[in-house]
Amino acid sequence: LLIAYLAAVFAVLPSSAPKQGGIAVLCYHDLQPVAKNDMTNTPSNFEAHLKWLKGKGYKTLSVDELVAILKKKQAPPPKSIVLTFDDGYQGVYTYAYPALKKYGFKATLFLVTSVMGDESPPMPHLTWPEIEQMDREDVIRAEVHAEKLHVKLGERLKAELSNGEPSTDIEHDLQNARVEIQNHTHRPVHSIAWPFGDYTTDLIHLAAKEGYYAMLNTEYGLNYPGDSVVKIKRLRMSSKYDTLARFEQKLAHYGIR
Ligand SMILES: [Zn+2]
Repeated sequence: LLIAYLAAVFAVLPSSAPKQGGIAVLCYHDLQPVAKNDMTNTPSNFEAHLKWLKGKGYKTLSVDELVAILKKKQAPPPKSIVLTFDDGYQGVYTYAYPALKKYGFKATLFLVTSVMGDESPPMPHLTWPEIEQMDREDVIRAEVHAEKLHVKLGERLKAELSNGEPSTDIEHDLQNARVEIQNHTHRPVHSIAWPFGDYTTDLIHLAAKEGYYAMLNTEYGLNYPGDSVVKIKRLRMSSKYDTLARFEQKLAHYGIR
């Protein structure tokens, strides 16, 4: 599995020197002292990443700030990075939130709204009061991953369209998740991170119709001014494979030092 993972990661690493001015968006999931799966990071590993970024002079951007830079409405500040979390696990409140405050960083959280408040093991989710608190303090802003459809939406929409079925289930999911988060945060919500990074052009159009203007996937790479704001790339981070040494190595491949 390690070999397969590294092969996948390094297959997409640029062979020549990366161009300047690219912004990395890091994608984390849960933080737990004992990682339950490859997508979980340990709090100490996560904090080592933050400490490294702080030491190198990096500052965190919100997704909206990134969008303004990609649309060339704002110049990219030097040493900018975006931190994101998918799914909405309890470890984000317990571990990421205090660590981010300690280093003066902020992050964006992509929620599966229908399971918020489900604190059952092995991977308990956040509660709405926790989400509201982190959002209000502008430490971790809540955006959309899904309402109920935490599935490969691109594939699902493709199947529905080829069957001639209307895509109302996906439309409703996109609507409901956004409305629910807005009801809790009392501010507009316009960003979505595709579940499993799976999307199609039709899905982008559908989400745009539902009011989303920033869409993030899990394709490896940096984001440059002029790039599409509906195809924002991210670098996935796992504890098992992104120890501090590997983290540094991975970022260095993209010119982030
Ligand atoms: Zn997910």
